[in-house]
Amino acid sequence: MKNVSETLLRKYAELIVRTGANVRKGQVVQLSISVEQHGFAALVIEECYRAGARKVNVDWLFDRHARLNYLYASQETLSRVLPWEEEKLKQMVQDLPVRIFIVSEDPDAMNGVDVQKLSSVSQARSTVIKPYRNAIEGKHQWVIAAYPSVKWAKKCFPDMADEEAVSRLWEAILKTVRVREDNDPVAEWKTHTDFIEKKAAWLNEQGFESLRYHSANGTDFSVELIPGARWEGAGARNTENGAFYIPNMPTEEIFTSPAAGKCEGTLVAVKPLSWNSQLIENFSITFEQGRAVSCRAEKGQELLEKMIRMDEGAGLLGEVALVPRESPVNQCGFLFYETLFDENACCHCALGMGFKEVLPDGDHLTVEQARQAGINDSIIHVDFMVGADDLSIDGVKPDGTAVPIFRNGTWAE
Ligand code: ZN
Repeated sequence: MKNVSETLLRKYAELIVRTGANVRKGQVVQLSISVEQHGFAALVIEECYRAGARKVNVDWLFDRHARLNYLYASQETLSRVLPWEEEKLKQMVQDLPVRIFIVSEDPDAMNGVDVQKLSSVSQARSTVIKPYRNAIEGKHQWVIAAYPSVKWAKKCFPDMADEEAVSRLWEAILKTVRVREDNDPVAEWKTHTDFIEKKAAWLNEQGFESLRYHSANGTDFSVELIPGARWEGAGARNTENGAFYIPNMPTEEIFTSPAAGKCEGTLVAVKPLSWNSQLIENFSITFEQGRAVSCRAEKGQELLEKMIRMDEGAGLLGEVALVPRESPVNQCGFLFYETLFDENACCHCALGMGFKEVLPDGDHLTVEQARQAGINDSIIHVDFMVGADDLSIDGVKPDGTAVPIFRNGTWAE
């Protein structure tokens, strides 16, 4: 922890616990964090207790262990959810713990691991785990924040010495989560999330039928929205106790799931995309009748083609998100190789799975019901950035009126 002062680390831990997770008196907390970050874990645990937590439990993560499991253990062994694991899930449904996830993985940790094995194992496990996840959905607070590791920092800054790379990544993370020596991050986040909530409320009032994108780089695109689907951003509320929490730190986006299979035109990416640890650069995707029918990439063409054909829904959109170009993530000016940051750089769309939560009472819909309502389904969800500095987005109302939403890559007003 020599790269950052104790004061800043404490401020950051406090922000995650108080503003992000909003831990309340008497709550159980489940912290997931890498074994390498045990020092920071101690600060977060202490802050949780200060906030009144009844008990803090930790799931220690170790990405090299996970990698070795996938390399050596059989798919069958890895796919089994053992009885004690299930007991733990049952306890989770009972306790409704606040969940804090600290990401710091090496972006290349799973390089060389069979992608099919990874997805088969996670699918098999998720059939057992899903009902427990569903049982706590909406009823607990959770937050994902980040802590730099050497491997991650070196992925972002391969030419720097370890120490320098970690310092640079720290600097960037603290900038994006608005933590400085001289500020009150909790107050700054209040202003920030109020702004996002106000914009989301405005979008929801407008009742746009579709969005139209235009930019000089060749983006010329329109997409239909699902009537009644909500725009969401910044925070969420625990329906059990009313606690307001921020699931992602940083967060800049306001997003919704558009009507699957209802878009036309071309989207041109403005940032490279890292998928399965490989880069796709300078690319565009063209849609016809809602489906990606062609793509062009200066680098990673085959990979991109493979991606949009992963399954039935992989070539359809699952998300559209608005992020102004002033975003601090964008100002950092480098690729983080971590969606938590990269998708908060500028406006983006995602191919693949949509979010049923944006539908009224969406939490309780089955995948099939959600699909009927227009939410896309796929094993992938890949965000790609389209927020050019001159991007315009219009919202089109049912009577055909176009309302400016974005001009020059930021809010029209
Ligand atoms: Zn997004």
